[in-house]
Amino acid sequence: MAAVENGDNNFELFVEKAPETRSGTKPKVYKDGQYSDPVFKKLSKINGEVNKLNKRELQSKLKEFGLDTRGLKEVLKKRLKNFYKERNIQKSRVRVTGKTGYDYLAVIDFEATCEENYPSYRHEIIEFPVVLVDVDKMEIVAKFQEYVRPLLNPKLSSFCTSLTGITQEKVDQADPFVDVLAKVEAWFSQHGLGLEKTFAVLTDGPWDMFRFMFYQCQESHIEMPAWSKVWINIRKAYCNFYNCGRGGIEIMLHNLGMKFEGSPHSGIDDAVNIARIAIKMLSDGCCLSLNEQIQIKVDPRDSKCEARYVVYHEPRKSRAARDCDENSEGEAAEEIGGDYGGDYSGEINHEMERLHIDMSEVDDGVDDLLSYYKLQKS
Ligand code: AMP
Ligand code: MG
Repeated sequence: MAAVENGDNNFELFVEKAPETRSGTKPKVYKDGQYSDPVFKKLSKINGEVNKLNKRELQSKLKEFGLDTRGLKEVLKKRLKNFYKERNIQKSRVRVTGKTGYDYLAVIDFEATCEENYPSYRHEIIEFPVVLVDVDKMEIVAKFQEYVRPLLNPKLSSFCTSLTGITQEKVDQADPFVDVLAKVEAWFSQHGLGLEKTFAVLTDGPWDMFRFMFYQCQESHIEMPAWSKVWINIRKAYCNFYNCGRGGIEIMLHNLGMKFEGSPHSGIDDAVNIARIAIKMLSDGCCLSLNEQIQIKVDPRDSKCEARYVVYHEPRKSRAARDCDENSEGEAAEEIGGDYGGDYSGEINHEMERLHIDMSEVDDGVDDLLSYYKLQKS
């Protein structure tokens, strides 16, 4: 195997000297906190060496292995580390249990009625797209898209039409939300979702479920479906995984060396592009898992509901979950299990952990949508 062109790093050594697989021996399955196999120490060292490579060296190694060379330096590091991780784990007797634990990701990106500079506007959903990603195949396998007729503000503002490309005619001809939601759920069933197939909703930010879906269900006098109450916020997962700043779809694509395909703010095009990012993350070894959920408080005096979003910790992944510590330069790694997309902020109160809620971590602290959009653009 060719050495890295310039520089004196020796990380090939670690790859070539993977432990022998003893045929007939049962593979060890490692769970949280039980990572004593030498392969983890080795991976930690490799990660330390990868951290020392410059962008050109990273690209040259990735090219050598036939991997994608596009993207920021942090992205390339992650990709190369994942390649070595998979290769070494495969060669070792170790079986790692960490995995995106769903058959499908249902990527949803709502478009809604809006007015320019109107923070308290009551948004109604006007486009309901779902893009289905098969996690094992790492590809888009189906798409659903319907426009929705708003009932509270049936007339779209010119701002809304020019932002989303959705015309008055399209929404006039569409069904109201309750009917479209029924079609979405029938479509889920057709694909086995919630039946023999497991799935998780994935969105760009918390707003699709915590604002649009929540308000819409209130407006339509229906319960929020259980599947929409907890989701994967890809922005959060992305910046945790690649170790870079938070940004919208176009920024996430740009950092991966990719381009937006279609029209921004078209729900279906947004959803396809979010799915492309999710697929790239899966192929770079990210274990996308639920990381946010809605919390609804009902005021007993007037039965009014208030919603906020909080961090969701999946029970089995709440402690380990940080790969073999790519930030530790050559230190022994104690934990492995894939890179999880969630937030891991250290000690979690046990009771809260049992309830899967960490009340202290309400993200971003931005309550109105317009401020959120401004924040993301800045
Ligand atoms: P997006 O997924 O970014 O296309 O946004 C979803 C929805 O958020 C849009 O359909 C609008 O209802 C609302 N929205 C997005 N950007 C703005 C903005 N700058 N001003 C007002 N509403 C917005
Ligand atoms: Mg959109």
